[in-house]
Amino acid sequence: MPSSQPLTLKDRVMAIQGSLPKSVRLIAVSKYMPTALIREAYDLGVRDFGESRVQEAIQKKAELQDLSDITWHLIGHLQSNKAKLAVRHFDWIHSIDSLALAQRLDRLVESEQRSPQLCMQVKPLPDPNKFGWVIAELKSDLQALQACSHLRWRGLMTILPTGLTHQQSLDAFHTIQQLAQEITKQSEGKLSLHELSMGMSSDYLLAVQYGATMVRLGRCIFGDRPLR
Ligand SMILES: *Cc1c(COP(=O)(O)O)cnc(C)c1O
Repeated sequence: MPSSQPLTLKDRVMAIQGSLPKSVRLIAVSKYMPTALIREAYDLGVRDFGESRVQEAIQKKAELQDLSDITWHLIGHLQSNKAKLAVRHFDWIHSIDSLALAQRLDRLVESEQRSPQLCMQVKPLPDPNKFGWVIAELKSDLQALQACSHLRWRGLMTILPTGLTHQQSLDAFHTIQQLAQEITKQSEGKLSLHELSMGMSSDYLLAVQYGATMVRLGRCIFGDRPLR
């Protein structure tokens, strides 16, 4: 049935929600998108929004103050000079990618009396273009991460390299799932990593097969982002 009408935001959100198990949290990645679109998604019931830049998110939050039950997720690399603002403004930070950053947050969380929920960003495959720990390095930092006593670790986050086959993507998601289980077990629950933030527009249905609990979707909800 050919249709010349592009799908509306509502059609897209409903189709995505219909394809996700109820237990999976849909994070609408609104980076570079105007707040009018966030409002539209909010009116459709979306409550989780992902932003990649601290400053941009703070500005949007100010414009959307009336929508007080939004959960804000930072998904982009966090520079250490923005860490304090991130602790103040985000409910979740998915992109903790180094021990030094974690230790800085540990001090800030104490002084700011505000403690976002955190994920460790991990690379299942080497990828020089992405931030995050490779698995061996993460393992060697675990003791020190566990010693950051003010932090609320919740899970692992990953972004796959581009150009993988379906099977390679599945294998990579499976690797992350197993790693989270292994860390949780070996730390005897001191690091309980039950959340898996994985899956973007192009691969979220694969991520869900290996236990994603949060998917971060931008283009398949809002369409292509404006060029910057
Ligand atoms: C932009 C971004 C997304 C969303 O990507 P889409 O391909 O638009 O779904 C998800 N996660 C991170 C970390 C991002 O930077």
